[in-house]
Amino acid sequence: MGNTCRFYVDLMALQREVTGSCILNVIKFPDGTTKKLLIDCGLFQEKDYSDYNKTFPFNPEDIDYVIVTHNHVDHTGRLPLLVSLGYSNKIHTTYDTSQLIGHALHDSYKVLKRKAKLANERSLYTDEDVDSTLSLIEAHPFDEPIKLDENVTLTFFMNGHLPGAALVLVQVDYSDDSNYKHPTINLLFTGDYNNKNMFFNVSPIPEWVHNLPITIIQETTYGDMDSSQIEEVFESNILDAINKKKEIVIPVFSLGRSQEIMYFLMKMQNEGKLDPNIPIYFDGKLGIKYTELYKSGSLKSIDKTKDFLPQNFSYVDSPEMRLGLTNDYQTKIILTTSGMGSYGPAQFYLPAFLQHSNALIHFTGYVAEDTLGRRLYDCNKGEIVEIGGLQVKKEADVKFTSEFSAHAKGDELINFLKDFSNIRLLLLNHGETASENYYASKVINEVKIKNVGILGRDYLFRVNEYGLIKSFSTKFL
Ligand SMILES: [Zn+2]
Ligand SMILES: [Zn+2]
Repeated sequence: MGNTCRFYVDLMALQREVTGSCILNVIKFPDGTTKKLLIDCGLFQEKDYSDYNKTFPFNPEDIDYVIVTHNHVDHTGRLPLLVSLGYSNKIHTTYDTSQLIGHALHDSYKVLKRKAKLANERSLYTDEDVDSTLSLIEAHPFDEPIKLDENVTLTFFMNGHLPGAALVLVQVDYSDDSNYKHPTINLLFTGDYNNKNMFFNVSPIPEWVHNLPITIIQETTYGDMDSSQIEEVFESNILDAINKKKEIVIPVFSLGRSQEIMYFLMKMQNEGKLDPNIPIYFDGKLGIKYTELYKSGSLKSIDKTKDFLPQNFSYVDSPEMRLGLTNDYQTKIILTTSGMGSYGPAQFYLPAFLQHSNALIHFTGYVAEDTLGRRLYDCNKGEIVEIGGLQVKKEADVKFTSEFSAHAKGDELINFLKDFSNIRLLLLNHGETASENYYASKVINEVKIKNVGILGRDYLFRVNEYGLIKSFSTKFL
């Protein structure tokens, strides 16, 4: 019989909280060899962690495989750095992610270049590094196991977080010289997860996966919130503001949220709730590119027949048009990227409209710490807010809603786990610390799982087919 104790995977993560997703898996085989696999390679966006962006606590040349869960820069934004530092193997994605990722990385390069210039530093990577990264992409369909080699099998499953977003199953096998096959080590990475999407039906995970003895690495962005707590206020807030003839600014993420809000406003028009004479504008270069991709039918998950553009809708295509919109004081709706307000044309619209007492600024999702959105959330009307060196008085109404969130809530995350019959270990990540701790206690009380850990920069988890072997504190702080 083979020796089962020397076949294991060490899991460690580079992320502290919500951004900078990158999970390093070091597979140790009984013959002493290793393989290294990365799940995601994202940018840190919280200010406190920006230094983490500059280096990796491992040699990129030693990584055998990179697998990407979905096209958000907090999961992909450091791939070009990884490649510039020597990673030269394939980058595995779903088909739709392969269609979207080029837009995201070229845009990320531009943002980083601007930031580096201001800080008088070298940019993290060049546009050529982005091209080299894209040349390594290998796209795969959902639900089909892909043998990366004789030991490692990868399967993508559909995930409602975004078009192309996947749940990632990694299965590790080993047969020794005497042909003894060790039991498979099964790891399921949820990436950012949602059980539904406005633009497509999310097919369920097949039963064979639910029955595997498995380690699950689960996101917890909204782990401390219950879906019943989510109030659907967006429609009434918008209609109320329209009745009062207000100007409305809606910060949106370029991919997913922009198109969902367009679709939502179109439905309000079709149902006779929103007057189609009110003009609707959309500003944000990357968001416009994604909207065109949705329209083009080249994304496999998007239903080609689905209309989503409202009537009386136009793209903002010049600085003059943008300036005109902030000075005409007409009732209108402006969708603008970025969703948290810190990047893109939102940097122009938010300080301008914040000073209009007849304006409503309506955020449509999660606002991370250190973003303009969070600062506006934390201050009262009449207070002065510092925005890019300007002292701006908050005169406008500022509202928030979580109803469009692309992340499952605590109860939905628990339901996700309850479908599995044999979870050996659960590792939580991608949440603010308070949310992770709250959700961890909820899981322990409600789901039968032997071990629950929090995956971050502090601990490494050694896992085999039976689940956790032990945890160690990591050295890369
Ligand atoms: Zn994320
Ligand atoms: Zn995401």
